[in-house]
Amino acid sequence: MSFSVDAVVIGAGVVGLACARRLTMAGLETVLLERERHFGQGISSRNSEVIHAGLYYRPGSLKAKLCRMGRERLYDYCKSRHVNHRRVGKWVVASSTGQLVALEQIASRAKANGCDEVSMIDGDYAASLEPELRCVAALSSPSTGIIDSHGLMTAFLGDFENAGGVLALCSSVESGEVGDNAIALNVHGDESSTISARFIINAAGLDAPMVAERIAGVPNHLIPRRCFAKGSYFTLSGKSPFQRLIYPVPESGGLGVHLTLDLQGQARFGPDVEWIETPDYTVDSGKTERFLQAIKTYWPRCDKSRLQPGYAGVRPKLGTPAKFADDFVIQSSENHGIGGLVNLFGIESPGLTSCLAIADEVISRMGID
Ligand SMILES: Cc1cc2nc3c(=O)[nH]c(=O)nc-3n(C[C@H](O)[C@H](O)[C@H](O)COP(=O)(O)OP(=O)(O)OC[C@H]3O[C@@H](n4cnc5c(N)ncnc54)[C@H](O)[C@@H]3O)c2cc1C
Repeated sequence: MSFSVDAVVIGAGVVGLACARRLTMAGLETVLLERERHFGQGISSRNSEVIHAGLYYRPGSLKAKLCRMGRERLYDYCKSRHVNHRRVGKWVVASSTGQLVALEQIASRAKANGCDEVSMIDGDYAASLEPELRCVAALSSPSTGIIDSHGLMTAFLGDFENAGGVLALCSSVESGEVGDNAIALNVHGDESSTISARFIINAAGLDAPMVAERIAGVPNHLIPRRCFAKGSYFTLSGKSPFQRLIYPVPESGGLGVHLTLDLQGQARFGPDVEWIETPDYTVDSGKTERFLQAIKTYWPRCDKSRLQPGYAGVRPKLGTPAKFADDFVIQSSENHGIGGLVNLFGIESPGLTSCLAIADEVISRMGID
């Protein structure tokens, strides 16, 4: 079977869904192709579900810009579409005086990124609000929140389908070819088919570099090397000791073993950073002691028996573990010379927060709006 549409989005994670929704809202006949039996089973189902404020990112980077824009868009969207979320706030904590410089640096970076609402609080004041916490100072970010990411994806899908978009599940893009006025994709599913479209968005998450490699005509030297950083979580049984999200000063490749809450108020710790060759989602119970020591730097009374292995996610890093890219990579025709094709590479955190802003950025680079 062979047919053509205006636009195809590859991958029905939160970013692909946001892009597909945006394309149909711009009036384009759009098909969203997803390899799995359900949407949202990739990176988007295995994360911390935090709406980030945008504190840490390099000023001027895509992460800084799209996180800040995306965060407010996301709060507005959640309100208007009744997606479950809560602006719980977060503290980044310095557990020793030696970390104060790093905390000040995060505060300056946050301000440079337009997060003027952040403020420093001292350890005594922090302890008066969170008696179980031990820190010498904390940076308070009141605009950080938590979200039901599956509810968000369901709402995006509703908008997309109501506007006439079609989601094709069990449809894996195996290869493709750049033509004069369209790109043809070979799709394997219940039946094999070829779909041609003027606009293609590659939002295949961990596999986005591999999908790009399989489209003949995409310059190979522009496709970044992918590498994977697994992040494991441990859940905490019983009541959460904290009312807000608690983050240590960040570590290389991740934000440190932090405490997040889900919308039911249950606490979990993680994700850590573990470089792996191929994605795998098992959580090693042998890590409990390491988690405990990391948590005890800010919660000394943490009891090991309350920690259980939870779940794991895999970050789509670009480069090598020794030298990985620190920003999203969005490639459009001005980068690779192929009209209508956008590749989304390395959409790790804060991709969930940024998804609506990423969709706007993609549409604008395609010259649709
Ligand atoms: C441990 C962890 C914690 C995180 N925490 C946060 C957080 O708190 N806040 C935040 O803002 N961000 C967070 N993120 C980042 C966020 O989860 C991601 O940026 C976002 O989910 C990426 O969505 P996506 O749609 O690009 O990818 P995915 O959700 O992986 O979607 C890609 C889809 O493409 C499909 N696919 C792949 N290949 C093909 C093919 N050939 N044909 C068809 N379909 C294909 C896959 O099946 C998948 O469904 C976190 C990430 C990780 C790993």
